[in-house]
Amino acid sequence: TPARKPLMAGNWKMNNNHLEAIALVQKMAFALKEADFEAVDVAVIPPFTAIRSVQTLIDADKYAIQYGAQDVSPHASGAYTGDISAAMLAKLRCSYAVVGHSERRQYHREDDALVNAKAKAALAADITPILCVGEGLDVRKAGGQVAHVLAQVDGALEKIPADQVRRTVIAYEPVWAIGTGEVATPQDAQEVCAAIRTRLAELYDGGVADEVRILYGGSVKGGNVAKLMAQADVDGALVGGASLDPGEFVKICRYRD
Ligand code: PEP
Repeated sequence: TPARKPLMAGNWKMNNNHLEAIALVQKMAFALKEADFEAVDVAVIPPFTAIRSVQTLIDADKYAIQYGAQDVSPHASGAYTGDISAAMLAKLRCSYAVVGHSERRQYHREDDALVNAKAKAALAADITPILCVGEGLDVRKAGGQVAHVLAQVDGALEKIPADQVRRTVIAYEPVWAIGTGEVATPQDAQEVCAAIRTRLAELYDGGVADEVRILYGGSVKGGNVAKLMAQADVDGALVGGASLDPGEFVKICRYRD
């Protein structure tokens, strides 16, 4: 089995102004040790307005918290009021940009073509997209989760070459599990994450499939993360609510203990 370094990414959503962000990252930075960073990549995903403040707290060494943005414009620059470009995020040394989060798909009507364009924009600026996919409750109840998610993966990766897909992160987030406290079973998470990896092997090759980190997201907490991480194709977690509590998030990062 290939060595995929786990990634624990905290999606803060629309929480924490820049001062609150500083306090939260300081608490995490105090708690996390070299050994934690040897074992996992740790990332925070604050609102745009806090990224600069978070940047000033973080040392540029490998034993450091990484950070990213919750969205990115598909456009390079120009008359797109309210958008933030990938180049702007790269200038702030963001490592990641979340694209296609279910809340963006739902409240901002983002479709797979837009998600694809955003992923391409991030990759062109050397930012790793965290590409979110996941089925709603109706699809799950009908047993259509794998087909639904694979169609999202196909759409989001369209015309992205293998060398760029290698450094992409995919997050499987069943919509019915996000912010509901209803975590997917480890078996349900593994079923879809394994299907995504098989699809990557079909679309590209086995080497690409082995390298891509596939996260699970949806009501992950300190108490349920270990069993999810024990699944062969789950390489980390995208964490919403629990990432706002530094103690809980550090517990998630230490799921091996
Ligand atoms: C998310 O928004 O990506 C998420 C997984 O949220 P929560 O952990 O709160 O379910």
